[in-house]
Amino acid sequence: MIGDARRIVRDTVLTAEICVIGGGAAGITLALALRNSGLRVLLLESGGLQEHAPTQALYEGEVEDELLHSPTDKYRQRRFGGSTTIWGGRCVPFDPIDFDARPWIPNSGWPIAYDTVARWYPAANELVEAGAFDYDARTARNGGMQPMIEGFAPQEFDVDRIERFSCPTDFAGRYRHRLERAESIRVLLHANVTKLQAARDGGRISHAEVRTLDGGQFRVQADQFVVATGGLETPRLLLASNDVHADGIGNAHDLLGRTYMCHVAGTLGTLRLNDAKVWHGYDRAEDGTYCRRRIALTEEAQHAHGLGNLVFRLHHPRIPDPAHRTGALSAIYLAKHLISYEYGKRLTGDGPTNARTWLRHVGNLVTDPFGAADFLTHWVRHRTLAARKFPSVIIRPRANLFSLDFHGEQVPLPESRVHLAAATDPFGMPRIRVDWRYSPLDVRTVATGFALLRQEVAESGIGSLSLDPHEADIEAMVRRDGAYGGHHIGTARMGDSEATGVVDGNGRVFGVNNLFLAGSAIFPTSSQANPTLTIVALALRLAAHLQSRATTPVDLTTRPATLVESGA
Ligand SMILES: Cc1cc2nc3c(=O)[nH]c(=O)nc-3n(C[C@H](O)[C@H](O)[C@H](O)COP(=O)(O)OP(=O)(O)OC[C@H]3O[C@@H](n4cnc5c(N)ncnc54)[C@H](O)[C@@H]3O)c2cc1C
Repeated sequence: MIGDARRIVRDTVLTAEICVIGGGAAGITLALALRNSGLRVLLLESGGLQEHAPTQALYEGEVEDELLHSPTDKYRQRRFGGSTTIWGGRCVPFDPIDFDARPWIPNSGWPIAYDTVARWYPAANELVEAGAFDYDARTARNGGMQPMIEGFAPQEFDVDRIERFSCPTDFAGRYRHRLERAESIRVLLHANVTKLQAARDGGRISHAEVRTLDGGQFRVQADQFVVATGGLETPRLLLASNDVHADGIGNAHDLLGRTYMCHVAGTLGTLRLNDAKVWHGYDRAEDGTYCRRRIALTEEAQHAHGLGNLVFRLHHPRIPDPAHRTGALSAIYLAKHLISYEYGKRLTGDGPTNARTWLRHVGNLVTDPFGAADFLTHWVRHRTLAARKFPSVIIRPRANLFSLDFHGEQVPLPESRVHLAAATDPFGMPRIRVDWRYSPLDVRTVATGFALLRQEVAESGIGSLSLDPHEADIEAMVRRDGAYGGHHIGTARMGDSEATGVVDGNGRVFGVNNLFLAGSAIFPTSSQANPTLTIVALALRLAAHLQSRATTPVDLTTRPATLVESGA
């Protein structure tokens, strides 16, 4: 059932076997997976069913360098469903190499193997509604997918690996009714957890303190707690719960909030193709899922050149530069103020528009009105009105020129971190301060990856790949787009021991017997892959683990449907 925390009588104590904090992709997955377990689950979610400005403002914080990192209340969404209410739906599994300790990447290596996570990918793929768990272009649809660039078979890159797209599924919208019907699940909306109270010896969590914006407060006692509040809010809650553990829960070795990674991502270069046949759009699998090829740096190349994981995607030319002469791209540029911050950010990356640029975009629109009209019609039919949405802007460039989108792994750097600011929110909880950093290896991964691809393009005879003069400084290009806004990774990393991680391979906080974390905060490394599919896979694995840990499985037929409440 789904209820409203504002209706809970002040100072009530609620009890459950499992308390999940946060109702985004991770929290909702956990609740769904536990709904037939016989365990009473209480999911506490800060937001409601709609966006609510005062709740969203609880995400406000400080950023060390605003050119490199977005404001902390942008991108992530503080409402039921979390950021899946606005995500793009791109699904990609991690690669086996991501789990290895790689000598050239400091702090790399997971305490669990790829296969441990891979077991859960098919079920995760189902939950995100991305069709079958098949990420190979040769088999993802009957007869295989069309080649991206005919005759291009590079050595250092794999062009048969694909990404699949979720609808994109808003976890709250899609799974709310299942949770409503589940007898053993209680979701409380508008419930803000402001503190985890550790028992006096620090070895377990005795209760969570919950506040509502209208002045309510109550406690939750549970056998096991899971924090699933996203990669920035998870360290905040643990750092702010600092009475018994003076430096925050799980922070005995000063790892909490550190090794903060997003991805380095942006658009680079000009690919001029001779007469090779190009397909840079989407194929659809038989079940309707949109699939797309990518150009992935092979594991062998990462080893040979000492690089991080990296993919390129064939992309239309950069929209802000009117040299593309494409009416549809100019129409998007001119409409950029109508596009949400999260999706419009890269349209403003080159600074304010001057009159000359603006006029050149208008000129493109005038000379290519049919291209713009075709794009608009397609977008409305296949994106705005469709249940399974066309994933992104795909426009055939007029001059057969493409650019490359890159999406690269970041080195887990201890100096890249999230910590508590002096400022507090209306509950008196310290806000966060984000100091995101990138490393020279992050830049080298992009620069060397690009150089390798340029060489392979030249050798294949399909055309040429070059950097524009203003792109010669790759570090400046990495800085132009900065941290990829929606991915918050590594701030409560998994490790073999308390000295190397905040949580163990099951997601349990070292030294605290009944506290688990879910979400990308626990990833020790970031991969080239977008995080959500792996978040969901790990949440499914955690649900199975919690179930196996529960000492006294409950027979639901003998339990009352409502959860226990008592006065404090
Ligand atoms: C614009 C955008 C595009 C994206 N596109 C992609 C993509 O294409 N592919 C991909 O893999 N990923 C994408 N992502 C990232 C994806 O949305 C996240 O990885 C995913 O939502 C993380 O799930 P989560 O449950 O860990 O955290 P969240 O979704 O952040 O959920 C956390 C939940 O916790 C709640 N909460 C926070 N604090 C508290 C508290 N103190 N008490 C109670 N509740 C609390 C929040 O309200 C929220 O509901 C995108 C993100 C954005 C913003």
